[in-house]
Amino acid sequence: MCRRCFKAIDGRLWIPAAVCAGGRSIAITGKMSLSVPANSWAGRGQLPSSTPTRTRESRIDVDPFTVRLVLHGDLDFFLRSGARARSLKRSLNEKTSVKDVIESCGIPHTEIDLILVNEQPVDFGHAIASEANIELYPVGATPPVFKYKRLQVAAATTFVADGHLGRLARDLRLLGFDVAYDPHAEDRQLLRVMERQNRALLTCDRRLLMHAVVKIGYCPRSQNADEQTIEVIRRFDLLGSITAFTRCLRCNAALCQVSKAEIIERLEPLTKIYYEQFRRCTGCGQIYWAGSHLSKLHRRLEQIRANFA
Ligand SMILES: [Zn+2]
Repeated sequence: MCRRCFKAIDGRLWIPAAVCAGGRSIAITGKMSLSVPANSWAGRGQLPSSTPTRTRESRIDVDPFTVRLVLHGDLDFFLRSGARARSLKRSLNEKTSVKDVIESCGIPHTEIDLILVNEQPVDFGHAIASEANIELYPVGATPPVFKYKRLQVAAATTFVADGHLGRLARDLRLLGFDVAYDPHAEDRQLLRVMERQNRALLTCDRRLLMHAVVKIGYCPRSQNADEQTIEVIRRFDLLGSITAFTRCLRCNAALCQVSKAEIIERLEPLTKIYYEQFRRCTGCGQIYWAGSHLSKLHRRLEQIRANFA
């Protein structure tokens, strides 16, 4: 086991063996999961394992063989920089689920909408035990002929965003989408909220997306929040569900109309004079009104819609 791999297993930055090898073809022996139970990773003690932990009884050794993976759409984004390619090879010496093979390349299963093994559609549990040609398609790039074999849901309207995606969370709330967001949330909290509230997980942490409990998730490609918002709208087919200015940007609760008389004591002197229509957050009580920022928000909305014209 290489030094980097050892280091990764010891901390929270676990990475699959093939990624650890810098994208080169290596054997995935299964010894990592035999010798180091996934639940023993420091800092992730309460997290469920991302992949089934093999036992000696269940391990099936076979002669070494090679699989070839072909990446469609933008899936090469997940390969290490400098190693981007539309196809790559992996050497295996044991029966391995196709999910493990894919994630050993650094691609979370949440990004895969269709898997063809030797031209036949399969699910993530499909076992690879001999040479195979594996084609991978992201959402939006799947051939129409396989429209009933998709592995991802096409749409979602409720989300949980990790702490690094604050601006994206705010933008989505601005568009009326329900986004749970806590800048201090740890991974286990994100997964708990995701599971209990049936939310799609938004994170740039691809290792987090690889957990088996994650059914719906997305890793924004761009570092720019405006572009991330467009990506999420496109990935989850949200354009027709936008209801701007209906959700609190601070706490995510719904806004309701409130009369000026009801809240006049909380208004600044100039606001009392110039504005007549107000909304109040049903969660935290924050007051919103059509201030000068509203025209900026309308322009932003027009920019977003222009991307889908
Ligand atoms: Zn609020």
